[in-house]
Amino acid sequence: MNFKGIIKGLHHITATVSDAQEDYDFYTKILGQRLIKETVNFDNENVYHFYYGNEIGSPSTIFTTFPYKGQGVRDGIIGSGQVFETVFSAPENSLSFWKERLKSNGINFSKLESFGKEKLQFKDPSGLNIAIIEDADDKRTPVWKTEDISEKENLIGIHHVLLAIADVEETLKFLSVFGYEETAREGDSVHLNSSIGGAGNSLVVMNAGDLPKGKNGIGTVHHVAHRVEKIEDSLKIRDYLVNELGLKVTEVKDRKYFQSIYFRIPGGVLFEVATEGPGFLVDESNEELGSTLKLPDWQEPHRAKIEAGLMEYQK
Ligand code: ZN
Repeated sequence: MNFKGIIKGLHHITATVSDAQEDYDFYTKILGQRLIKETVNFDNENVYHFYYGNEIGSPSTIFTTFPYKGQGVRDGIIGSGQVFETVFSAPENSLSFWKERLKSNGINFSKLESFGKEKLQFKDPSGLNIAIIEDADDKRTPVWKTEDISEKENLIGIHHVLLAIADVEETLKFLSVFGYEETAREGDSVHLNSSIGGAGNSLVVMNAGDLPKGKNGIGTVHHVAHRVEKIEDSLKIRDYLVNELGLKVTEVKDRKYFQSIYFRIPGGVLFEVATEGPGFLVDESNEELGSTLKLPDWQEPHRAKIEAGLMEYQK
């Protein structure tokens, strides 16, 4: 049994961050992503949920954050059992543009090689490990453009995430059932592709080595969501994980823009399986995406109270 083909690849990455203004400025103004949805954490309406993505928030391009500053949430520790780094994909011949852009914004970065590709590694304002890799084969559209970043240069979406894992082989065994196949090894890192593969559809598992055990909190990735076409696929996966692998999996949660189940994989990382639809155009037109606070129907009656409780920031 395996879910090859059913798990198509990544859907989104979600992180716990600090300040809303810093987060918004960094991801939209420096990294050039579009805020495609401004809503609240459906499990805690005192906190924003920002969704960044390409022009329409296509699954696999989405990076989302919960700005938790002032809510009594501890600083996290990036370590084993977690996403170590989120890697964004840049178009062909754009890496020199990104080096200049990071430099001119005072962001220190290091240059590394990863599976034959040059990678720029840096931190976001909350301490998350972020990287940019150039991938000439990444043809996902529509790429967002901003005042000072053209479509030929702008980040296309998530390229892959790097998981830090204490027991790599055990996790690989799980991932092969889940739908990701090993394609290459480099040192103590393993590259995996979904059946589609390539940018937005791959993972790298690295041996956590001396890293401390990861702790959830500000400056860490909360979970990695993978995409399926329809909810029946999620239910099939849920059934197998619960009954055959003995994992704890949540019931289906309505996230308005997709439907989700959540579980922790052997190796510790929190995974989500999310449906591709209905998508972010369900309550706003393309032009309006991210322009005003959207709430799920059940929270709409409490809008005034919710708005008053949210951290202020300027778009
Ligand atoms: Zn999620």
